[in-house]
Amino acid sequence: MKIDVTEILKTPGAGMPFEVEGEIAGDGVADELQVAGGFAVRGVATSIGDGVYVDAHAEGTVKLTCSRCLGSFAKKMGLDCEAKFMENPEDRSREDRDEIEVFSLENGVCDLSEMVRHEIVLNLPMKPLCSPRCKGLCPVCGANLNEGGCDCEKPDPGETVFGRKLLEALNERGKKHGRS
Ligand SMILES: [Zn+2]
Ligand SMILES: [Zn+2]
Repeated sequence: MKIDVTEILKTPGAGMPFEVEGEIAGDGVADELQVAGGFAVRGVATSIGDGVYVDAHAEGTVKLTCSRCLGSFAKKMGLDCEAKFMENPEDRSREDRDEIEVFSLENGVCDLSEMVRHEIVLNLPMKPLCSPRCKGLCPVCGANLNEGGCDCEKPDPGETVFGRKLLEALNERGKKHGRS
């Protein structure tokens, strides 16, 4: 997923709209993630003299593992990406480093997959769910409860320390209100 920006590079301020589609290089973007199929990236590259500033929107599908039932599911992602591509990314000023991600520009070519991969990882849900109503796995036998029940006795919801403290606090508050 590469764009050639040679023609605008020598004219700072010059812009070049682009639209590319392709695979995000490298499987296992993160341990729990696989990119399923391609991503489409649309945006504008603007020359900043020794590199380009890229503002783009990427769309595609990733495969995630549900944190409740451990099933694999596909999730569509739409990502706004912003980055700089520089000939010598190490030379960038400290200021740049804090503000915006910088990737390397090689022979006038930007490899957008690096930028998109970075953005995917930033936007992964902390606890991916195949559905908000996912029932998860039976804590006793491990059966997937989305695919039908099991005959296990579910443990009683026991009293917890937190629950007891909460009740005590509520009772205290009730007493105070009663007196006043
Ligand atoms: Zn699930
Ligand atoms: Zn069970």
